[in-house]
Parts: sequence; C-alpha cells; structure tokens
Amino acid sequence: MSAVREEARATEYEAVIGFEVHVELATATKLFCLCPTTFGAPPNAHTCPICLGHPGTLPLLNERAVEYALRAALALGCEIERRVHFDRKHYFYPDLPKAYQMSQVHAPIGRNGALTIEVGGRTKVVRIREMHLEEDAGKSVHLPGEAGTLIDLNRAGVPLIEIVTEPDISSPEEARAFLEELRLTMLYLGISDVRMEEGSLRADANVSVRPKGSSVLGSKVEVKNLNSISGVERALAYEIERQISLLRRGERVVSETRRWDEGRRLTFPMRQKFGGEDYRPIHDPEVVPYVLEESYVERVRAQLLELPQKRRKRLQEAYGLSAYDAGVLTANRELGDLFEAGVREGAPPKPLANWLMSEFLGYVNERGLAVRDVPITPRQWAELLALIENGTISTKIAKTVFQRMAESGRDPREIVESEGLVQIADPKTLREIVDRVLAANPKSVEDYRKGKEKALGFLVGQVMRETRGKANPKLVNQLLREALGEPGGA
Ligand code: ADP
Ligand code: ZN
Ligand code: MG
Repeated sequence: MSAVREEARATEYEAVIGFEVHVELATATKLFCLCPTTFGAPPNAHTCPICLGHPGTLPLLNERAVEYALRAALALGCEIERRVHFDRKHYFYPDLPKAYQMSQVHAPIGRNGALTIEVGGRTKVVRIREMHLEEDAGKSVHLPGEAGTLIDLNRAGVPLIEIVTEPDISSPEEARAFLEELRLTMLYLGISDVRMEEGSLRADANVSVRPKGSSVLGSKVEVKNLNSISGVERALAYEIERQISLLRRGERVVSETRRWDEGRRLTFPMRQKFGGEDYRPIHDPEVVPYVLEESYVERVRAQLLELPQKRRKRLQEAYGLSAYDAGVLTANRELGDLFEAGVREGAPPKPLANWLMSEFLGYVNERGLAVRDVPITPRQWAELLALIENGTISTKIAKTVFQRMAESGRDPREIVESEGLVQIADPKTLREIVDRVLAANPKSVEDYRKGKEKALGFLVGQVMRETRGKANPKLVNQLLREALGEPGGA
C-alpha cells in the first residue's frame, strides 16, 4: 500500500515539531568589529569597513561573544567544542555585503544538549542537536509607497547563537513551554534580552504530522515570521490542522517554507525547499582558531547562575511553596531575588510569596514598572509582614500601607504610626462602637434576630466603616454575636 493511502486511512495523527532558534547576544560590540550593537540607531550608523565587508579588512573575534555562547551551551548541557573556528556560508543577498555569512557549520560550539520542559505537570526532555555561534545579516527595508529596497547594515555582524533541536516536541503547548523555558534560561544567563518583538529572539518552527504511533517522519514545513510566543502556538495549531486535513483527503504535504500571517491567522507558502540548498561552507582562514582551555570552560561553568528549573525546585523544597508559586516567582528573576531576600530578612515565606504575587505584581503590572522600580526593600517587606502577623494592622489596612510604601519607600511602621492605622483590638473600645452601630440600625438587628445571617455582614461592615477599616474583624464579629445573641433566638 502506498504511503499516501496509508496516511489517509489513519484515524489519528500526531504532530512532530523541531525548532531553530536564533538568540542575539547582548555584547556591547559586534562579533568581528568594534561597532556597537544597540537597537534602534539611525540606519547604517553602526557600520565600519569590517562589517561592511570591504576587501582587505581583517575580522577580530569578540571574546565576550564566545563566552556568552559558551555559557548558553553549558546551560543547555552540551558537549563543548573547545577549538572555536568559523566557516563561511556563501550566498548572495543585498543585506550581506561579504556574500558569505560567518557561522560554525563543521564544528558548532555545542552539541548533544537538552532542555527539560514541564507541560501539564509532566516533564519532557527536548534534545538540542547543536548550538553554534554566527553573525547576523543586515536588514532590507521597504518604505511604504516607495519603490526599491533600502539596506540597513546596523545588524550586520551582530553575534547570534543558533540553537537547533531534535524534532522532539509534539504539540503547540509543548512548543510554547519550550520557547518560554529557553527564553527564561537566556535571561538568567544574562546573555541576551531575548525580545521577540525586537528580533533578539527569533524562532523558526519545523512541523510535520504522521499517523499516530508511526516511526516515520512526515515531510516538514518550516514556518517563519513568528513574532511572539503565543503567535508560535497559534501558527503551529493552524499548520497542524492544515497538514492533517491534507492527509485525510489523500493529498501530500509539500515540504516548503511558509509564512505566518498573524492578522489573518494562517500560513501561506514563501518558497519551496529543494533539499539542495548549498552554501558551500569553507573554513574561514582569517579568524585564527580560538582554543578554549579546559580550565576556562570549567571556570565559566562554575560561574553559571542557578538556572530556572533548579530554582523552581529549590523554592518548593526550601520554603514549601507550591509548584505554581515557585513558577511565578522564578519567571521573573528579580521577583525571585526579592522574595529570597525578604525571607532572609525574616519574612514568612508563604505569606510573602502571596503578597508579592498578588498586591505587588498587580501594582507593578498596572504601572508598567520593573520590580526594581518599586522602592520597597526586603527588610521593609519583612517588617510589613511582621505587622500583619502580630496583629498590629489588619490585612485590609496592610494593603493601604503597601501602597504608601510603594509610592514613597517609607518604613511601614512609620506609616502605620504617623497615619494612625494601628488595628483596634481593644474589646472595650470596640464594644462601644458596636453598641452605637446596633442602636443606629434597628432594622438590621431585627432581620438578624429573625434568622437573616446576612444582616450580620452588614453590621460588621458598619463597624469597619466607623473605624476606617482599623477594627480587628474577627473581634468585631465576636462582639456583635455576643450583643445580638443567636440568630432566630430571643
Ligand atoms: P533540513 O535538512 O531541512 O535543514 P534538519 O534535519 O537539519 O532539516 O532539521 C532542521 C530542523 O527541523 C530541526 O529543528 C529538526 O528538529 C526539525 N525537523 C527535522 N525533520 C522534521 C520533521 N519531519 N518534522 C518536524 N521537524 C523536523
Ligand atoms: Zn563594524
Ligand atoms: Mg539542516
């Protein structure tokens, strides 16, 4: 039976996905010259004879870029190629003035690594086939309403790493989890700002489908123009459906490159792949092979920060946090750091985690701030939580105190004292207020006595209002019940 007929008869299909991810390294200068790499400069402001590809110039390897690539390769558990050299990949394109791209075709700096992801409570290992260091090309610019193409070479020569996975990913959700984990890992390593919208993280997704359980790979489509992680998820979902319905109709999936159109939510063909793309890579003779001493590799390995996965695990084990809490606190490195510093200052872990994840993140996100923009120190967090724990302020008042702290950086104790926010927990004072409220609300008192439990809530609210939220709510409840007797009674 032909493969096509067999594919059409299958009732269930599975997706196979592999990524080629480019990450722009956040070095100050380009890979082979001293031009700056900052984003958003006027066109061609960051160019020199080397990155413009003038004949007779000599490239000078950026050691920092090699170190960053090494960090990434180590973090992904790769075997390290200690002899760093480059190959020229030849092709002609207006944004590539040398007519070749410097890359590592024959000896990528990293091989055989892995990244573990978690999806729906299950862990999965995505194998990293290789990771290499290369230079970026420039940009072709088409101005609306104008003929011709403009060339901006600011990006030409900016260092990139390319990470190539094995086709180990089997759903759009896993693809999202993979890219999120990879992105967070790069952030923790401090080697890139990994912004998809600015192009410092670029993912090309390869996707095919096959009858479920089959061991043969189907023909793959490469999807380009993916500008956000959720866009990747949508594009893959679309593409998987498209391929499955082709197979169901007995048709073939053409191996090609397709472009994702985010506006119309579909992919369309860009160019067909003929398998024969040949860049005729040759060893570059100008950059002298750069040898990474074993002691250097080990030093860089030792300096690697704790990576997100390990941190999530540690936060759960050391502080008894849930997997969810540990995930939220790890997803933002600064937030995780703040949490840990607060705990070191004596804050109780779980309540602090709750405060950071709800009030604090809410405040930060609403205003578009970074964690470091809020002037509350770890010691002040510990103090705020102590004031709640020892009953000096109610949780409700604590929210007000938090707002004042966030705006001014003042100490919580000072705010509480100067604004008279101390909780009223003295039964004598509260009893007087309770009596006043009961006298003023005979209708509610009657309702409550007739069995309407809800009337009690109203009365509690009145006492809280009288005290501007400072009364201890538990005590208010207790005093009201004492004064009213049981519902339905008397
Ligand atoms: P090519 O020969 O087109 O360059 P490669 O074998 O080098 O293909 O793989 C490029 C990327 O495509 C890798 O990320 C790999 O995991 C992925 N890939 C390879 N084959 C498939 C397939 N059949 N389905 C999905 N992804 C695939
Ligand atoms: Zn330059
Ligand atoms: Mg390939």
